[in-house]
Amino acid sequence: MTQGSGTLRLISGVGKKGPACFLVETGGKRLMLDLGEGPPPGLLPDVDDIGRVDALLLSHGHKDHVGGLALLPKLGHPPVYATDIVARGLPEGIATRPLPVAGKAEVLGIPVETGRNGHAPGGIWLRFGIGDGLLYTGDYATESVLYAYDPPAKPAATALIDCSYGSYNAPIAQCWEKLALLLPRGPLLLPLPANGRGPEIALELMRHSVDQIFVDDATRRALRRLCESDRVALRSAIGSEIERLADTVKPIVGARGVMLAASADGTSGATAQLLAQFEFDSDVTIVFTGYVNPTTPAERLTQSGRAQTMRWNVHPLLSDTVALVHAVQAKTVIPAFCDRAGLASLAAALAPAQVTMDSAVEI
Ligand SMILES: [Zn+2]
Repeated sequence: MTQGSGTLRLISGVGKKGPACFLVETGGKRLMLDLGEGPPPGLLPDVDDIGRVDALLLSHGHKDHVGGLALLPKLGHPPVYATDIVARGLPEGIATRPLPVAGKAEVLGIPVETGRNGHAPGGIWLRFGIGDGLLYTGDYATESVLYAYDPPAKPAATALIDCSYGSYNAPIAQCWEKLALLLPRGPLLLPLPANGRGPEIALELMRHSVDQIFVDDATRRALRRLCESDRVALRSAIGSEIERLADTVKPIVGARGVMLAASADGTSGATAQLLAQFEFDSDVTIVFTGYVNPTTPAERLTQSGRAQTMRWNVHPLLSDTVALVHAVQAKTVIPAFCDRAGLASLAAALAPAQVTMDSAVEI
């Protein structure tokens, strides 16, 4: 059974890259979807005029989706819904209610279906039984060699979709081809998120018989969790490979081999220390593979030419977006996490669906 119609308000994350935060209002209830921080670091959604929220649902554990939990008091301390894996990674003191990794639930009487997002451990998309269906993908990817993706299939007339890459459409195999060219050059430092691209690129390196794979403590812990508590996030074809990978990687000691370390933008963690150590050592190639977060070491080093950037796909291609919109028969599509400048080309690719970045959308 579906609820009556409602409104989707785009608080932050549509029209330009920024923290994810959306509000669904239906039948007198108010559900917030994600509450992120950055990019750039420190930027929080403006929730001063939002008032009381009845529930917050989290799509996955990346900072730009969960980093704004300090704002909960401004929202009347709503209950926080998250998968067990995401809940474990939240700051202490945040009490959560469970969402399935793939299955059905009810939040405040509203039917919710979820599936794995192929992007991060415990990460999900959510489909709400509101109006003729509302799909929120959070971040998602169909191409991950490591993380499982459950394609949404049930109709959703309104779809709020990760379009981080706009109309980009180069498959992940090309990412590997470019990365592989750098391997013979000597020591390579790859700053990465431990709960995302880190383990994924490590797996590709092992599959391509790169024998010198070094990781920081955060990535090592993430690999161990993928062997145990986070195993549900893995593609079924992985089998025991992840255990072999966890046993294969070695701690980073000095400049050698391929070094994978968190954080992805160099603001914290082992990467911050390693960048200080290697910045003036021209033998070490430094490559950032994700979004270059403004005001961070990633931006400074790429702008100076010391580091290079090379995308490793962790968001959908344009062809994925087209396929998803067709699969769920979306009539209204809101592209999230990309610039407004990409609206026209997305609208052309997704026609006859109506593509909008308006601040409020009727569901
Ligand atoms: Zn993410």
